[in-house]
Amino acid sequence: MKYASTVLDLIGNTPLVKLNRVTDGIKATVLVKLEYLNPGGSIKDRIALKMVERAEESGQLKPGGTIVEPTSGNTGVGLAMVGQLKGYDTIFVTPDKVGEEKRDVLRAYGAKVVVTPTAVAPDSPQSYYGVSDRLVTEIDGAYKPDQFSNPGAPDSHFETTGPEIWNDTEGKLTHAVISAGTGGTITGTGRYLKQISADRASGPVKIIAADPDGSVYSGGTGRPYFVEGVGEDMWPGNYDPSVPDVVEPVTDAESFEMTRRLAKEEGLLLGGSSGMAVVAALRVAKDLGEDDVVVVIAPDGGRGYLAKIFNDQWMLDQGFTTDEYSALDFIGAA
Ligand code: PMP
Repeated sequence: MKYASTVLDLIGNTPLVKLNRVTDGIKATVLVKLEYLNPGGSIKDRIALKMVERAEESGQLKPGGTIVEPTSGNTGVGLAMVGQLKGYDTIFVTPDKVGEEKRDVLRAYGAKVVVTPTAVAPDSPQSYYGVSDRLVTEIDGAYKPDQFSNPGAPDSHFETTGPEIWNDTEGKLTHAVISAGTGGTITGTGRYLKQISADRASGPVKIIAADPDGSVYSGGTGRPYFVEGVGEDMWPGNYDPSVPDVVEPVTDAESFEMTRRLAKEEGLLLGGSSGMAVVAALRVAKDLGEDDVVVVIAPDGGRGYLAKIFNDQWMLDQGFTTDEYSALDFIGAA
C-alpha cells in the first residue's frame, strides 16, 4: 500500500510546471515550482518542520512545550500543523489589521491566537513583537522559532528546495527567480544552486531576487505596498545579500495583473508573490535563448487572496485596473 505515515512526510517534493501562454514570444523554458501543493498550502511548511526538529535536537523544545511566534501567515499554518502532529501547543501573535479568516485557519489547527493593536510602536510592550517576547518568558517550556533569524529556515531550503530544483531540471536550469520576505528561501535555495553549479561549463545558476517596488532589497525605504509576504522595511538576519546576482523591483500593479493572468491563462491559482516572481522571470527570460531554463518559485496558492487580488471591486478601490468584461462584449455591440 502506498501512503504517508503522517502529513509531515508530504512536505516538499513539489512539482515543476511549464508556463505556456504568459510566456508568448519567449524562447527560454520557464518552469514554476508549485509550493501550494505542500500540505499546509505553502513553502513555509518546510521551514516550520526544520525549525521544530532543530529545537527538539537542541533541547529548546521539550515534550509538552509551547511554540510561540509572531506571525499570521503561512509560517503560522506550517508551525500549527507541525506542532499539532508533534504534540506541542502553538500560540500565534497577530496584529489586529490581519483578517479574521487568517486567524481562523490557525485556530482550525488547534492554535491559540493573541491579537495585538497595530497602532503602537514596534518597540512598545503591546506590539506583536513585545507581546510574543513576554509570552516566551512567562510560559514554561515556551520556544520562539523566529523565522527572520533562525538558521533552520535557510538550511531547510538548502537541504530540500535547492536539490529538488536541481534534480528535477537535471542540472539544466540557468536561472532561478525567488521572492524575498524573511530571505530564508532565496538564501538557502540560492546558495545550494550556486554551489552545485559552480564548476559547470555553462557557468553557475544565476539567482534573481524578485522584490516589491519600495522594499529595502531593491533600494527602497520599505514604503507600503500591497503584495503580501515579501519585501521588508529592515534587513533580516536570514537574507544574505551576496546570494542574488540581480534584484528586480516589481510594482503591485504588475504583480496583481500577472497573478490574475496565471489563473485565467495557465490554470494556476497562485498568491501575489508568485505573480510578482513571474513578472521578474519574464523580464529576465525575454533576453534568453531556447537552451535557457528559468525556474520560478511560487510560494503559495491564490485561495487566501480571493477577497483582494481576485476581487474586481477591491482591485478598483485600490486604484488597480481589472479586465472586467462589459455587457457590450457579450451582445456584440462594442
Ligand atoms: N511569498 C509568500 C506568500 C510568503 O508568505 C513568504 C514568506 N514570508 C514569501 C513569499 C517569502 O519567503 P521568505 O520569507 O523565505 O523570503
